[in-house]
Amino acid sequence: MLGLMQSQPLLISSLIEFAERHHGDAEIVSRRVEGDIHRYTYRDLALRSKQLANVLDGMGLEFSDRVASLAWNGYRHMEMYFGVSGSGRVLHTVNPRLHPDQIAWIVNHAQDQVLCFDTTFLPLVQAVHARCPSVRKWVALCDADKLPADSGIPGLVSYEAWIGGASSDYAWPVFDENSASSMCYTSGTTGNPKAALYSHRSTTLHAYAAALPDVMGLSARDSVLPVVPMFHVNAWGIPYSAPLTGCKLVFPGPALDGKSVYELIEAEGVTFAAGVPTVWQMLLNHVKAGGLKFSTLNRTVIGGSACPPAMIHAFQDEFGVSVLHAWGMTEMSPLGTLCTLKNKHLALPRDGQMKILQKQGRAIYGVDMKIVDSAGNELPWDGKSYGDLLVKGPWIVADYYRSEGGSPLVPDAQGRGWFPTGDVATIDADGFMQITDRSKDVIKSGGEWISSIDIENIAMAHPAIAMAACIGMPHPKWDERPIIAVALKPGAEASREELLAFFEGKTAKWQVPDDVVFVDAIPIGATGKMLKAKLREQLKDYRLP
Ligand code: ADP
Repeated sequence: MLGLMQSQPLLISSLIEFAERHHGDAEIVSRRVEGDIHRYTYRDLALRSKQLANVLDGMGLEFSDRVASLAWNGYRHMEMYFGVSGSGRVLHTVNPRLHPDQIAWIVNHAQDQVLCFDTTFLPLVQAVHARCPSVRKWVALCDADKLPADSGIPGLVSYEAWIGGASSDYAWPVFDENSASSMCYTSGTTGNPKAALYSHRSTTLHAYAAALPDVMGLSARDSVLPVVPMFHVNAWGIPYSAPLTGCKLVFPGPALDGKSVYELIEAEGVTFAAGVPTVWQMLLNHVKAGGLKFSTLNRTVIGGSACPPAMIHAFQDEFGVSVLHAWGMTEMSPLGTLCTLKNKHLALPRDGQMKILQKQGRAIYGVDMKIVDSAGNELPWDGKSYGDLLVKGPWIVADYYRSEGGSPLVPDAQGRGWFPTGDVATIDADGFMQITDRSKDVIKSGGEWISSIDIENIAMAHPAIAMAACIGMPHPKWDERPIIAVALKPGAEASREELLAFFEGKTAKWQVPDDVVFVDAIPIGATGKMLKAKLREQLKDYRLP
């Protein structure tokens, strides 16, 4: 017997329809590429998304055709999120920090038909457009009078001129909720990038989940600043969860330095912000250097790479801002776990609570996880056993778009497919997961594993260190030994011996790095994460002492 409830597909257009009707006057504030601040409302967003949808229909784009963006976080990008997906096309958010060759490769792989870009990225578009024959329309996300002259890009049009004349009268089409809605290529640290192809159903379910109290806990009373880029796994789903809750949205545009982010937080009464540790480090440096305070910010989601405990302490103890440590990946839309306490932890002393809050956290409903040994046997949830982390759920990839290698899933005894995350983790009895390492970064020393993240976390608490990366170096006896590459803060000084002594008593003796290598900067990849492969290449002539 079937239930007798209304059947309504979960479509991305329903999110903007909801916001238009129930939160029409809630504000969306954007710092534009031009530097000025733009303000409008969810109602305006809805109307302009419909104008865009009409333009795409007018071009004769088919259902599921790809429309690409090369853009910062801002209102026009947000209009693409709804106008493109809502009208049945697939939004391909391209990461502008990738190498031009990689950008050309993924635009061709996705067969993008339209590419809309912020004018900051004009040089990039000039470098790749001739190699992207599938693109039949290039659109600069700017006012008509700001269209770059003599760009050399055939038929280039400004976004405002492009959608300006279109009607905002549009009925969002209804189709199968499993239809593709958007796509995002992984940064491809090994081999060619691979595309996660999200669906309307997966995106809508993820948007619901992301807003839950133990996840991001978004509400109509919040003012939300996604610093995490909209080209990096859909800004962790915030552009979808925001219209679902009716929160005020604040977009930082290209200005991600500490000063600009701080000023925006204060000016727009931001209560909640989300980003990777490298961005928050810039913000903390700015705030500390200027003796500033946050007047409205009360919580921040930090993820994408391990959040050093020193950062959690700084936010919490010095500024009264709660840190929610989050873990996920492109293949998971991206949220997998978030770290919040359970009721029984409330009575714990502060130190005990902090120990828990440093972990990557508990699975969100919709995500199932397990750790397995090299033979695929499930390992106990004792907080000690570590193994490969596998996940499954309705917003986790089953396969990559136009993949060539076959399904990435690993079947269990019941034939259910699990996605191997490439992370090594422990899970404790309360279900709190802690990432030990990426499987390729784990250091194997004398048959034991050393977590590079643990070593980096200790180093990051040293006042002279701006950034630290721990990597394994070949060793004749132990197989590998850890060393720590360190970039010092400007003007700071610290000797090798002092830094090595800093580890004493903070980790087992055999886990203390064998050496410190001073570098000007730790290489950072397209999504703000440390590029250990590049660091290893830079240190290829290094020999252990
Ligand atoms: P890519 O896989 O291309 O680097 P993703 O953004 O999908 O891009 O990265 C996902 C990976 O980032 C995870 O598998 C994990 O290794 C790492 N990661 C994400 N969040 C955390 C976190 N909170 N702590 C440690 N590692 C993290």
